[in-house]
Amino acid sequence: MYFNLLCLIHRLLLHLDRTWRNDMSKSGQIRHLFKTAGLLLRSYSDGRWRVIPHDVLPDWLKDNDFLLHGHRPPMPSFRACFRSIFRIHTETGNIWTHLLGCLFFLCLGIVYMFRPNMSFVAPFQEKIVIGAFFLGAILCLSFSWLFHTVYCHSEGVSRVFSKLDYSGIAFLIMGSFVPWLYYSFYCSPQPCFIYLIVVCVLGITAIIVSQCDFFSTPQYRGVRAGVFVGLGLSGVVPTLHFMITEGFLRATTMGQMGWLFLMAVLYITGACLYAARIPERFFPGKCDIWFHSHQLFHILVVAGAFVHFHGVSNLQEFRYTAGGGCAEEGGA
Ligand SMILES: [Zn+2]
Repeated sequence: MYFNLLCLIHRLLLHLDRTWRNDMSKSGQIRHLFKTAGLLLRSYSDGRWRVIPHDVLPDWLKDNDFLLHGHRPPMPSFRACFRSIFRIHTETGNIWTHLLGCLFFLCLGIVYMFRPNMSFVAPFQEKIVIGAFFLGAILCLSFSWLFHTVYCHSEGVSRVFSKLDYSGIAFLIMGSFVPWLYYSFYCSPQPCFIYLIVVCVLGITAIIVSQCDFFSTPQYRGVRAGVFVGLGLSGVVPTLHFMITEGFLRATTMGQMGWLFLMAVLYITGACLYAARIPERFFPGKCDIWFHSHQLFHILVVAGAFVHFHGVSNLQEFRYTAGGGCAEEGGA
């Protein structure tokens, strides 16, 4: 395979350059170079790539130094990257958790959109607001599995797709706010629009920030988690508004706050595991393939999105049962 050979030469040149530049002794440098060359030769032998350890990865592929082995080598071929979905390596779990999650929300979204119009008070409007959630979830999960699939292609491709991946999280958060605000402030359209505009401005700001190259570097892992948790937590203001105007009891029953709280716990737990790299931090090399922080974070994102959908569909059912009227709630 030509790309394998090109890859190998490229990798050796990179290592040669890096090895000469660092502070190792001459014999240490030569030993390191031979070790790297040997590992890379083995990783591409038989025209079939093999997983490689973390210490011989190029800098742009070095994201988590607690995952010691099982990494894909750089593979500048989209075909090879997509075929690697069916191989076992550090990204296998990351790809499949969001690929299956994406298919799940796609099917759920199609089924929901084809629900009979008589199950809604305002079918067209409600299908658009709930559709915004499905669109956000599907974009987030598809950008994510695509990023994890082509992450090892090349530095440029990895950078472009990592920006799409981060933008996807902002789309999921913005999309999640739409039906929740619509049903929670059903009888008060003014605060509903204000909160919607605020979350869109914050979401677009997060997307703009995530286009900066520094944002995807390992040093900014905590900042990334903070930006998206902060964006999600902007929902605290409308939640308090709802609780003050409707009362705690109505907020937990009619407002589905219990489900929203569970969703927040799932997302925040995921973000903390991601930022702190738990559990691999405590067991370096033991979670290389399964159960490392990024996979757990992915599972918690899918679970959080599903819990949000469940809360929103309960809100929709409540509104349908109430008949869409606002008079008994004292406002219009
Ligand atoms: Zn991911």
